[in-house]
Amino acid sequence: MVNKTDLHTHSTFSDGTLTPTELVVLAKKNGLCAIALTDHDTTAGHEEFLKECEKQGIEGVPGVEISTKFKRELHIVSLYAKGHEFEEFIEKLKNAREDRNIKMLERLREVGFDINVSDIVDEKNVTVQSAGRPHMANALVRKGYVKDITEAFEKFLGKGKKCYVKRFSLTPEESIRIIKQSGGIAILAHPCYAVQCEEELAGLATKLKNAGLDAMECLYSRYDDTQTEMCLRVAESVGLLKSGGSDFHGMNKPDVKLGVVNGGYVPYEFLETLKGLLNK
Ligand code: AMP
Ligand code: ZN
Ligand code: FE
Ligand code: FE
Repeated sequence: MVNKTDLHTHSTFSDGTLTPTELVVLAKKNGLCAIALTDHDTTAGHEEFLKECEKQGIEGVPGVEISTKFKRELHIVSLYAKGHEFEEFIEKLKNAREDRNIKMLERLREVGFDINVSDIVDEKNVTVQSAGRPHMANALVRKGYVKDITEAFEKFLGKGKKCYVKRFSLTPEESIRIIKQSGGIAILAHPCYAVQCEEELAGLATKLKNAGLDAMECLYSRYDDTQTEMCLRVAESVGLLKSGGSDFHGMNKPDVKLGVVNGGYVPYEFLETLKGLLNK
């Protein structure tokens, strides 16, 4: 019985390199029975994604990954949220991304790089509203200004670095509130990027649980056993459900394989339990 799933993936509608169709075809090939598409700040890929899921006989989960206001990277994955308030929120995030992208390109040019909007968009799905820092990193590599994506982030694009520009975001609590009011499931994505120790994670998880958070991404591609065990312990003690995902980005994260997380795969039971929260 196949019961593998992946609840955190990206397509060309944000900073992944596979189209939603290609993503679902690969999911089928890798033996997944369900997959969530969780592009950054956009639901634009859902239509194509759900259509291909139906064609391939895979359960498709419409999701979004939202960056929130926090001292480190704190991302919330939303599954199933929909409706007017949610779409308005997403629209605001998209506009803020566009402003941010234009400002960051200006800063990169100030450093002396020849880089424009045309270098970070493509003819398919990447627009100035959906492009992300990985597209800027790729352009810098392509033009020979840095040797790889890591160097681009370390020197110029990472939080607090020379060409980094903050964009509008809501606090984690406010983002969770909108997801819950929109009938969605709210999951703390890759929690180890947001905290530095177990005590801090327990504090954050408790605070966000009180704000309505449903689950935590305990299984993740880039975790080691210690991080996975810490997340499982904290989720259990705080009373959050478990989620898991690879955060697949295609060739923008070449080491990450679709459907593969530390320790194996994400069992379908995780999704089944999460879906139990719907209609409650
Ligand atoms: P954005 O949403 O446009 O601000 O870009 C965020 C994306 O940049 C995320 O998907 C991360 O995977 C990627 N990213 C952030 N920091 C790094 C880094 N140090 N190296 C490589 N990718 C990164
Ligand atoms: Zn991304
Ligand atoms: Fe993320
Ligand atoms: Fe992600």
